[in-house]
Amino acid sequence: MPRPLSATIHTAALASNLAIARKYDPKSKIWAVVKANAYGHGLARAFPGLRATDGFGLLDLEEAAKLRELGWAGPILLLEGFFRPTDIDVIDRYSLTTAVHCDEQLRMLEMARLSKPVNLQLKMNSGMNRLGYTPEKFRTAWERARAVQGVGQITLMTHFSDADGPRGIAHQLDAFERGAEGIAGARSLANSAAVLWHPDSHFDWVRPGIMLYGASPSGVTADIADTGLKPAMTLQSELIAVQTVEAGSSIGYGSTFTAGESMRIGVVACGYADGYPRVAPEGTPVIVDGVKTKLVGRVSMDMLTVDLTPCPNAGIGSRVELWGANLPIDDVASAAGTIGYELMCAVAQRVPVRAE
Ligand SMILES: *Cc1c(COP(=O)(O)O)cnc(C)c1O
Repeated sequence: MPRPLSATIHTAALASNLAIARKYDPKSKIWAVVKANAYGHGLARAFPGLRATDGFGLLDLEEAAKLRELGWAGPILLLEGFFRPTDIDVIDRYSLTTAVHCDEQLRMLEMARLSKPVNLQLKMNSGMNRLGYTPEKFRTAWERARAVQGVGQITLMTHFSDADGPRGIAHQLDAFERGAEGIAGARSLANSAAVLWHPDSHFDWVRPGIMLYGASPSGVTADIADTGLKPAMTLQSELIAVQTVEAGSSIGYGSTFTAGESMRIGVVACGYADGYPRVAPEGTPVIVDGVKTKLVGRVSMDMLTVDLTPCPNAGIGSRVELWGANLPIDDVASAAGTIGYELMCAVAQRVPVRAE
């Protein structure tokens, strides 16, 4: 028997989350962002749930090729563009759309031999200061891109740093408008947070990622409570041992938890080698036997320990949900000082995953 730990991908939740993203602006086309192996869900497993999208956004040429093998004939966007001249051959072969964010990429494109027109998303740095041309340099870059032989449509793109936070997007929208003024072409600006909370940013194409997987762009579950978004991944396991300990006994490495009274402790087959965050402190929520309880003691490589006081009927073999359909991943993430994005991307290779 394998360990009882596994992840389930909920295909219907992906499809429903995509439909919700579309409802926020039925006029905008959608790049469903599936970078990082579909945020840890598995590209091939996520694809059937997301195939009603208009296009897929990702980073990796191999993942782009895999989408073609899965039968996707529509647009695929390389969100960071390409890194070497030989990448352009792959872009050409698989008819990929590519971001272009710097002159080095434009130079490679000018030297390339393309068999058919390649569509670009020219990226503006409107304030994030990672990738892209400043508003001042944007028009020159656009003119240069337009002059490249074999360049098809050019979409104007930027990315927000604070669409989920108090600073918002106004400063970046202003910068974008300034840099893009008078330039024809479709616009692509919005990530999930902007899809949900900044309708003035939607334009022609939106690029939702995290919302498709049913987690909150802000990392706060309450922020998406009224959206209808559903978790697309459940990480579940079982109790593999139960200990009854006396008052004063401590649990696990470092003896970080000491029982104040006699209590039952459940041992769960899931540890940091599975992607569960080792930094998760005492009190991190876990569902055992359908009842919400909490982590106690340190997370170890292959196991973690939980308080069975609220679940008197739980025993070896009882079902444990680490996050998912009944326990928002962001609640676990925020207890551990991170966001749902990181946890879903970190599910380890050794965890068996199946789609339903
Ligand atoms: C990852 C990414 C997105 C999606 O962001 P979410 O916050 O997951 O919606 C959109 N655009 C770009 C350029 C990205 O890299």
